[in-house]
Amino acid sequence: MSKEAVIIGAGLGGLLCGRILSREGWKVTVLEQWAQPGGSLQTFVRGGVRFDTGFHSVGGLAPGEPLEQLFRPLGLMDLPWYRVGEDEFIRCSLPFLRLSALTEDEIEHVAGPYRQSVWRLRGGGKTLVDALLEGIDVQLRKKVIEIKDHVVRCNDGSEFAGDVVVSDIHPKATFDMLTDHVRPAYIKRLQKMENGPGVFTVNIKLNPGTIPIEYHSIFIDGEIMIHFGEEEAGGYARSMDILTFGHPGDDRNAFAETLIQKASERIQGLPDAVERFWTSTPATWERFTGTPGGSAYGIVKKGAGDYLSPITPLDWLFLTGQNIGLHGILGTTVAAVNTCNIILKR
Ligand SMILES: Cc1cc2nc3c(=O)[nH]c(=O)nc-3n(C[C@H](O)[C@H](O)[C@H](O)COP(=O)(O)OP(=O)(O)OC[C@H]3O[C@@H](n4cnc5c(N)ncnc54)[C@H](O)[C@@H]3O)c2cc1C
Repeated sequence: MSKEAVIIGAGLGGLLCGRILSREGWKVTVLEQWAQPGGSLQTFVRGGVRFDTGFHSVGGLAPGEPLEQLFRPLGLMDLPWYRVGEDEFIRCSLPFLRLSALTEDEIEHVAGPYRQSVWRLRGGGKTLVDALLEGIDVQLRKKVIEIKDHVVRCNDGSEFAGDVVVSDIHPKATFDMLTDHVRPAYIKRLQKMENGPGVFTVNIKLNPGTIPIEYHSIFIDGEIMIHFGEEEAGGYARSMDILTFGHPGDDRNAFAETLIQKASERIQGLPDAVERFWTSTPATWERFTGTPGGSAYGIVKKGAGDYLSPITPLDWLFLTGQNIGLHGILGTTVAAVNTCNIILKR
């Protein structure tokens, strides 16, 4: 009889574990609290335009590079990836990465593949999510509220049991829901772990035919990062996103306008080209992903002690996702592969 896995969270980590385990013959159920899967890979539509929540680009997808070596066996290299210029990323992204309180080692691991090659995906994060959904059972609107002895209970009263339970959500949130006894030292360690800062995002719908699209990311003063979204006829951008780790203060719209003004130093036509904008704060992210403080990249790794193992004190409960390894598409993929290798070896 095939083994069963219950996976909490349909972010990249949860979906990848679903794919890997189901390919090995496991029966997999992924539980997602929202109506849409993907977590930080989700896309959403505002004013008729598609925006990406988190993911915009990846590094290291050319043949033989780190992400390519992981994605090829997972069947993810057939997606419409396209290569974009990397110069600006290499020159300008490091101060931005440092703002997220990463160590030099971590910066090297995250930024290194981007030095090799930078890629975007047509259709944004949704394209990757849709590919990962194939062949796995993802149950939406299932917010997990309790974990106990191989059984996961959701807010609608439904229960799911597995030979293993894999959590793709923040480790602290996972253990807050666990009612089995776990040695206090482990919980204390989780509680002491620091999370990186949250991100403030301005999603902008541009007036048609105003700003020529640029495919690579744009960085200004190591403080703000800009990505263009959909392309419209004539090579113009339909939308753009501005991201910063800066704090919006009391007036998020005024802060957004300051950021748009700052972006105008680099992008001609702003702010007049803005038709409308929407903002999200770290509090929005906290609600959306369940990560404490809305941290964009999760647990900060300052040294070996900050790396959690996928193995927990309970032999049926495993961790995955960006919190146990490095963040980003690459880091989360490495984490998912590690988690599944451990499960499969047992
Ligand atoms: C603004 C931003 C921009 C980014 N840009 C890039 C980029 O350009 N390139 C890159 O490589 N990486 C980028 N990243 C990082 C990358 O998106 C993440 O590292 C990765 O997607 C994390 O995936 P995950 O599965 O670990 O977590 P998440 O995406 O957080 O997934 C966790 C899932 O669990 C669900 N969940 C939480 N609690 C429960 C519960 N109780 N019950 C059921 N479900 C629950 C959530 O709804 C979510 O779907 C960005 C991140 C952010 C925030």
